[in-house]
Amino acid sequence: MNAVPLRAEFPGLAGGWHYLDTAATAQKPRAVLDATLKAMGADYATVHRGVYARSAEMTLAFEAARGKVAALIGGRNDELVFTRGATEAINLVAYSYPNKGRVLLSVLEHHSNIVPWQLAGWQVDVCPLTADGRIDLDAAEAMLTPEHTMVAFAHVSNVLGSVLDAPRAAELAHRVGAKLLLDGCQAVPRLPVDVAALGCDFYAFSSHKLYGPTGIGALWGWGELLEAMPPWQGGGAMIDRVTFERTTYAAPPQRFEAGTPAIVEAIGFGAAADWVAAHGLAAIHAHEAALVAQLRSELRRRNDITLFGPEESAGIVSFAMEGVHPHDLGTILDEAGVAIRAGHHCAQPLMDHLGVPATARASFGLYSDESDIAALLAGIERTRRIFG
Ligand code: PMP
Repeated sequence: MNAVPLRAEFPGLAGGWHYLDTAATAQKPRAVLDATLKAMGADYATVHRGVYARSAEMTLAFEAARGKVAALIGGRNDELVFTRGATEAINLVAYSYPNKGRVLLSVLEHHSNIVPWQLAGWQVDVCPLTADGRIDLDAAEAMLTPEHTMVAFAHVSNVLGSVLDAPRAAELAHRVGAKLLLDGCQAVPRLPVDVAALGCDFYAFSSHKLYGPTGIGALWGWGELLEAMPPWQGGGAMIDRVTFERTTYAAPPQRFEAGTPAIVEAIGFGAAADWVAAHGLAAIHAHEAALVAQLRSELRRRNDITLFGPEESAGIVSFAMEGVHPHDLGTILDEAGVAIRAGHHCAQPLMDHLGVPATARASFGLYSDESDIAALLAGIERTRRIFG
């Protein structure tokens, strides 16, 4: 599990920084930086419009990137819409899904899987959690009615690391005629994902958590569902024919990609998908699971620490230290070159449920190793001495 040679691929980790905030955003490997720089430099041109060779080549590279990202989750190219990120992907479905009824969310959702449904006028119901912090699918089964047209759950919780039993969630949603949207932001970088095997209908995720650039993400959805959805933003590239009397629209995915796309970012996203696929998500998952098990067992030995979430969490460990606000812990750790996240993690309803204003969160990536855990534990010791 010695990740040191791999770490050298990440300029963002230079200087021995102990980066334990990968769930917020992942550091970028050289392969992604190189692909992005080349796309913005030597290869740069617009896509889908130019009659000159450079633009045609850029269009091929852009569409190839779409194919790489789609392949990573077992989807088809024409079923993968590029968005600004997971947030925009969920907003797209919340606004454009034609059958707006009741949506079942859960207590552990990120704000980006709560607020879009509220804004777009859905009736929101909230599924409770099990005692160890998983979405309680027995409760979901009892709550779901034919009025529900959508179930939208995090595949992996960004706070607790709990992994959803997605096939069962899909089965429950489909039984009442609802669709299942999975927020895959934290799952795509940590688990092998195959949308057909999961049984979901929509899958939303962000490039920047997958070792790729910011500013781009994806919505995958079954072709016939995307086909039935009207556009939600208008502009260039999403049309078939425009007149002042009547405008017709392009087929998906272009229908949902108004304007000049994030060309450079898409190519970086494709490079990130390649990089992750080359390392293998099963291997990434195993690596992070071992680090989670080690950190949880170390923290469990301390009687001043409360651990949140299930034992088998995917790459994420949230905890609280008695008598120390997570922000103070984060600040003291920062002085020692250890970066953790402290706060509500854009999951205020979950904080209310846990009865805390904030948690401290350590999250891993493929570049994380035991030295990061050792530095975190040393920082926790130092914090205890300071707070007495
Ligand atoms: N869902 C989850 C579970 C997340 O962790 C995040 C990012 N913290 C988001 C959605 C939103 O992603 P983005 O900000 O990249 O759109």
